[in-house]
Amino acid sequence: MSFSTLGLSEPILRAVAETGYTEPTPIQAQAIPVVLGGKDLLAGAQTGTGKTAGFTLPMLQLLSSAAPSKGKRPVRALVLTPTRELAAQVGQSVETYGKYLKLNSTVIFGGVNINPQINKLRGGVDIVVATPGRLLDHANQKNIDLSRIELLILDEADRMLDMGFIHDIKKVLKLVPKKAQKLLFSATFSDEIKTLADGLLHNPELIEV
Ligand code: AMP
Repeated sequence: MSFSTLGLSEPILRAVAETGYTEPTPIQAQAIPVVLGGKDLLAGAQTGTGKTAGFTLPMLQLLSSAAPSKGKRPVRALVLTPTRELAAQVGQSVETYGKYLKLNSTVIFGGVNINPQINKLRGGVDIVVATPGRLLDHANQKNIDLSRIELLILDEADRMLDMGFIHDIKKVLKLVPKKAQKLLFSATFSDEIKTLADGLLHNPELIEV
């Protein structure tokens, strides 16, 4: 199995090759075609399985292949993570794998000055990686419009619930179009995660590695 059989475009394959990866991990081999096919996904995957590239690579592909919208660039993809460290890490992956694409991304988390984040959002970004609390601050202040989101990804959803983010997540979900494609990644499947997934995902593919 090689990355080139998964339906990814040349600029993405080139960036992947430069990282030194020779073949996709099991979660990547299974998730990438599902996401490229436009389906919702419920994925059981621990850290270390390569899950980040499993959603980042097809996200970049979907955004780069669809026609860019006219006028100010709307935010088209949102990745929610439980911690600022994970947000930074996912943001770095987006930059690395998307280095040959013309997509803009930014990372948003709390505990730091909000103004540079506002400036970055004003410049227009395609992809936002964020922790829920600070994202809501931006939404409440109308710094970000989530109404044009095409792809929503919840990463480490179980940790987000453990950290008490359920209310924030529900508020964010209300701001995202119902028809957006949605992916939920979680290491564990508690009843609370299942309830969240049931309410969020439409006829999802299920992958467990
Ligand atoms: P993650 O589970 O997304 O946190 O990824 C765990 C680690 O695996 C990261 O350091 C990645 O750089 C690395 N990784 C991801 N995909 C691959 C791959 N296909 N081949 C080798 N290493 C990978």
